[in-house]
Amino acid sequence: MIPVSSPVFNGNEKKYLEECITSGWISSEGPFVERFEKKIAEITGRKFGAAVSNGTGALEIAVKALDLGPGDEVIVPSFSIVSCAAAIVKAGATPVLVDCDLKTFNMNAREVSQKITPHTKAIMVVHTYGLPCDLDEILMLAKNHKLKVIEDAAEVIGQSYKGKMCGGFGDVSIFSFYANKIVSCGEGGMILSNDEKIIDRCRSLRNLCFIPGRRFVHEELGWNYRMTNLQAAVGLAQAEKLSENVLKKRQMGKSYQTELAGFTKIRSPIGKTEYAENIFWVYPVVISEEASQTADEVITALKAQGVDARPFFYPAHLQPVFQKMGLFKGETYPNSEFLARKGFYLPSGVGLSESDIKNVCRALKTVLK
Ligand SMILES: *Cc1c(COP(=O)(O)O)cnc(C)c1O
Repeated sequence: MIPVSSPVFNGNEKKYLEECITSGWISSEGPFVERFEKKIAEITGRKFGAAVSNGTGALEIAVKALDLGPGDEVIVPSFSIVSCAAAIVKAGATPVLVDCDLKTFNMNAREVSQKITPHTKAIMVVHTYGLPCDLDEILMLAKNHKLKVIEDAAEVIGQSYKGKMCGGFGDVSIFSFYANKIVSCGEGGMILSNDEKIIDRCRSLRNLCFIPGRRFVHEELGWNYRMTNLQAAVGLAQAEKLSENVLKKRQMGKSYQTELAGFTKIRSPIGKTEYAENIFWVYPVVISEEASQTADEVITALKAQGVDARPFFYPAHLQPVFQKMGLFKGETYPNSEFLARKGFYLPSGVGLSESDIKNVCRALKTVLK
C-alpha cells in the first residue's frame, strides 16, 4: 500500500531525542520546548511562539486569548477541519460561515465582507491544502472593521504570501505538527504572535492558568495543552529540514501535475497564483463531470489498487454535531458541498518517491470511469 503520508526523519531527530533521554528532561519543562518555539517564530518572522499539544488546542487557546466569547461572531470557512468552528463554539462565541473557492479551496474577501455584522469580532483565516488565502483584502476588511484575525496556517508551514511567511499574519497564528503536517512531531501545535501579552496569556492558558507565585490558585480556567520536551526535540529537528522538505513537496506536486496532464477525468490543483506558488501540503484532486463516481467510490477503488487516498473536508454547516446545536440551519455553501462529494487527495508525504507517484497516477487512470 502506498501510504497517504509518511514522515521522514533524516535529520537530528534521533540525536535530540537521545539528549532528552540522557538528560532525563521529558516533560514540558525541558529545554527543547523553548528552542522549538524560537525556531518556528524565526521561520515565520514572529516575535513569540507558545508550543502546545496539538493544533486543535492551539485554536482553542487562540480564541480564548483574544477574548472571544458569548455574543461575538467569528467568520470562518465551512470547508475546513472541525477544529476551526469547534474552537469558536467551545468558547461560547458564534461561528459565521463562508463558502470556499472551487479552485483554491480558500475563503475570499467578497464573501467575508457580506457576513460582517455589528457583532463580528474576528475572522479565522484558514489556508487550505497548500495555497494561502488571498490575504490583502481580508486583512484590509479586518482593519477597517476593527476585527481580530486568527491565521490557521496548520497546512502551510514554509509557504509565503506575496513573499511574507504564512504564520506571520493576523493577531495570532497557529500551526499543527500532526504526523501528516510538513513539520511534525507526532502530535503538536503552536500559537504565534508579535504581542507579548497575548503570548503570555496563551502560555498561562496551556498550563491550567497557574498563578505565578501562587501555584494551585486559579483565577481562570485553562487547559493542560503542554508540549513535551520529547515532542519539541523531534519538532526542532524537523523544522531544521523545513526548506529541504518544502522543495520536495513542490517537486512532488510538479511530478503529479506532469503525470496527470491531459487526464480530464480529474481536475488537478493550481500550481501557482499571483501571490503564491503551491506548496502542495497534499495533492488535492476534484473529479470532473466526465467521471460519474463520487470521491468515496474512487477512494475505495484506489485502496483495492494499493493506493491510500483521503476524502476532502466535510463542511461545517452539514456536521451533525453543529446541526444538533441548532447552528447553520438552512444554510447552504454549494462549493464546499460539491468539493466534499467530488474531492480527495492523493498520497503526498515527503517520503513519496517518483515511482510511487507514477504508480498512484496509473491506478487513478484505471479506476476513474
Ligand atoms: C491539522 C489541522 C488542524 C488541527 O491540528 P491537530 O494538530 O490535528 O489538532 C487545524 N487546522 C487545520 C487547517 C489543519 O489542517
